[in-house]
Amino acid sequence: MDFLTSRIHRIQPSATLAMTAKAAELKRNNLPVYNMSVGEPDFPTPKHIQNAGIFAIQNGHTKYTPGSGTRELKEAIKTKFSRDNKLHYSLDEIVVSCGGKHSLYNACQALFQKGDEVIIFSPHWVSFPDFVSVTGAKPVFVKTLSHQQFEPDFDDLERKITQKTKGIIVNSPSNPTGGVWSDEAVLRLLDLCKKRKDIWIFSDECYEQLTYEKPFKSIASFLSNNQQIITFQSCSKTYAMTGWRIGYIGGNKKVVKAISKLQGQSTSCPNSIAQYAAIEALQGDQSCVSEMKKIFLKRRELILQETLNIKNVFCEQPNGAFYIFPNFSHYLGTKDSQNNMIKNTDDLSLHIINNTGVIAVSGENFGAPGHLRFSYATSEHIIVKAINLVKKSLSNLSF
Ligand code: PMP
Repeated sequence: MDFLTSRIHRIQPSATLAMTAKAAELKRNNLPVYNMSVGEPDFPTPKHIQNAGIFAIQNGHTKYTPGSGTRELKEAIKTKFSRDNKLHYSLDEIVVSCGGKHSLYNACQALFQKGDEVIIFSPHWVSFPDFVSVTGAKPVFVKTLSHQQFEPDFDDLERKITQKTKGIIVNSPSNPTGGVWSDEAVLRLLDLCKKRKDIWIFSDECYEQLTYEKPFKSIASFLSNNQQIITFQSCSKTYAMTGWRIGYIGGNKKVVKAISKLQGQSTSCPNSIAQYAAIEALQGDQSCVSEMKKIFLKRRELILQETLNIKNVFCEQPNGAFYIFPNFSHYLGTKDSQNNMIKNTDDLSLHIINNTGVIAVSGENFGAPGHLRFSYATSEHIIVKAINLVKKSLSNLSF
């Protein structure tokens, strides 16, 4: 007898977390592992932020806070939005959640339901379709252009917008592709939505500080009247604070109030210690952000150079985040040494893991069969070693 709800059956386990578990299993068995699947900076949380957390624990910041976050943190977020993003939200347009994932989940709960359609650009972050499906709404996938930073195929987008469209989720810089939309692409999207005030634009900007070619611009900063746009940011990637779980939203007051109500009845409030540390992260010395970015940029150059050395693998230069998303289609339909067919990139990633210990996430998980996602949030030594092992394991496949 199936006692679980249809709501639970509408979602899938997180594929990237499954890869983290696979890495742990290899390690436990003393096998070599080169984990290129990690979606978090490999740096420790900067010292001044750690110290703020310790101070919070020792000075009584260990109690429930308001469900939507402390006033002090919201003030720090307000100042941050205006300093970094030219966005001017008032305190009642800001809500703090337990990570950006929680913010996105809650916003979907507040705005989408059965009968609605929500547009997601493929390749997409693994969680977007699940956030939408669990509400009862239908995810609608729109194609992107791999040779153009995975910007939308606007013909496909126009075809897919219907009377039922209630939301469009944008994620630039993107996980998994690292693609960063141009201003022209953002303006084209905003222009398309001008006539449809009932469509919410979600801008997931958790990689906002990691653009390598030019400074990032928040989507909401393109319009003076941006009430249709909800901005999602997070301390996770910017300040190497993934485990602290602090994300936040800037946007429409009514939506913010609804999310605060939902949080009050689910998690009560975000962690009080992490909120205290997040104030230091947002207001304190920002040099850690540019230092981490400098290292990521160096690694991007290295991983691209190594990957482009693999025969018949194609890879666009990603202008942001810390992922590359090469195309391995050439190797589909090949056979391994035991005569097993490599039918798709799920098979290919398994072949690579089993033969080399290199962990990459297959494109199927991101709605992009044919690709593998490699994170370069790891050392230069591991990057070179891992990509060369991948190259070797491909040379063992026969056509
Ligand atoms: N959005 C995207 C695109 C992500 O890659 C992630 C983390 N992998 C998140 C949101 C959520 O991050 P967090 O909950 O740690 O803020």
